[in-house]
Amino acid sequence: MDFELTEEQRMLQDMAKNFAESEIAPHVEEDEKNEHWRREIFDKMAELGFFGFSIDEQYGGNGMGFLEGALAIEQVAKVHTSWRMAFNMQDWGPALTIQKFGTEEQKQQYIPKFVSGEYVGNFAMTEANVGSDVAAMTTHAEDKGDHFVINGSKMWITNGTVADYGLLYVNTAKGAGAKGITCFIIDYNLPGITRTKIHEKVGLWASDTAEITFEDVKVPKEAVLGGPDYLNKGFQICMTQLNATRLGCSAGSLGLSGAILEASVAYANERTQFGSPIGRYQLIQQQIAEMKMEHEALAAMVYKAAWLKDKGLPNQMETSMSKLFGAKAVVHAANECMKLFGSFGYSLEYPCGRFLRDSKQFETLEGTSNMHTMIVANTALGYAPNRV
Ligand SMILES: Cc1cc2nc3c(=O)[nH]c(=O)nc-3n(C[C@H](O)[C@H](O)[C@H](O)COP(=O)(O)OP(=O)(O)OC[C@H]3O[C@@H](n4cnc5c(N)ncnc54)[C@H](O)[C@@H]3O)c2cc1C
Repeated sequence: MDFELTEEQRMLQDMAKNFAESEIAPHVEEDEKNEHWRREIFDKMAELGFFGFSIDEQYGGNGMGFLEGALAIEQVAKVHTSWRMAFNMQDWGPALTIQKFGTEEQKQQYIPKFVSGEYVGNFAMTEANVGSDVAAMTTHAEDKGDHFVINGSKMWITNGTVADYGLLYVNTAKGAGAKGITCFIIDYNLPGITRTKIHEKVGLWASDTAEITFEDVKVPKEAVLGGPDYLNKGFQICMTQLNATRLGCSAGSLGLSGAILEASVAYANERTQFGSPIGRYQLIQQQIAEMKMEHEALAAMVYKAAWLKDKGLPNQMETSMSKLFGAKAVVHAANECMKLFGSFGYSLEYPCGRFLRDSKQFETLEGTSNMHTMIVANTALGYAPNRV
């Protein structure tokens, strides 16, 4: 067992840290206030190769895998958690999924453009009435012989108003549940698509979230991811995609947990009450010790899940463990941080409020904590296999 990063991984980590601190940090407050998804940051991330982890070099990949991707996401999320989303929306969402299931033509046509940032990407499965039970989705694509016509709507879609192309999961066989889902590569410029930004979310203020409606949207047959063989096989694609993008979530929670820990330690050393820095008091030490232990345990879980993925070993349970534990650890840390900062924690001048708001995403996005509890328990109990 080796707990050391390679020189290349350390360099990447430093590069991501420097980028986040110099290019993202100066805009955090303004972009949070204005709910602004800043294109320049996205373009710079693309330029740095941040959207090419786990992607074959022939399609523009950066030659690095999940572990390196997790390290980069961690550093970016530490500075501004909204930007952890971009990795999933480009790389481990559309690009990697097309690499796994797409036809050669689709791979060549789309992957390099998601990786280079020429296409802003996303993925859409959730609907207003369909969240955890993905198979129950009602947005429907009707087969018209030489094309499909899509009707319905998707809700809570990240990059909803800014995406050029994305993965769209819809029903193609009414009443067939999981056996009637198909994944399309959707062109968001098609007529009949309306995108409405969702404002006033609890957190992730600089991440774009939208409702998207499809009204008689005519899509070509070639838009089916993987071609005709994958018609009605989108549920499997969706689960495979989620197992990759969930690691992006876990790495994001690790980054935020690191930011909270760092801010809490600094404040505990700097704030004096009763003649001593508050960090000298045992009750504060208990808070710091818990944050630190949970942060380290989370790091081990995230890196291990990433390592298993890079090795091509079963990892679904470990990915869910990192996602579930990440949510618990980061919400706990954000809560403790707010208490530790006293009234200043309650002020918007300090980042504690943002930490708490942004921490709550991890309990819901990419599968709720209940869903991940079920995956972990069912695998541990032997009711379901641990999948690659
Ligand atoms: C900011 C943001 C960005 C998002 N981005 C995207 C995106 O890019 N693409 C996309 O497709 N979706 C996206 N989502 C949607 C998100 O993935 C879903 O909200 C999530 O999967 C949960 O679905 P739901 O909200 O419908 O909750 P529900 O499924 O309605 O769940 C409600 C509650 O019931 C619990 N529950 C449900 N079923 C069970 C059960 N069988 N046993 C026990 N408990 C259960 C859940 O755990 C939860 O606590 C985003 C959401 C947000 C808030």
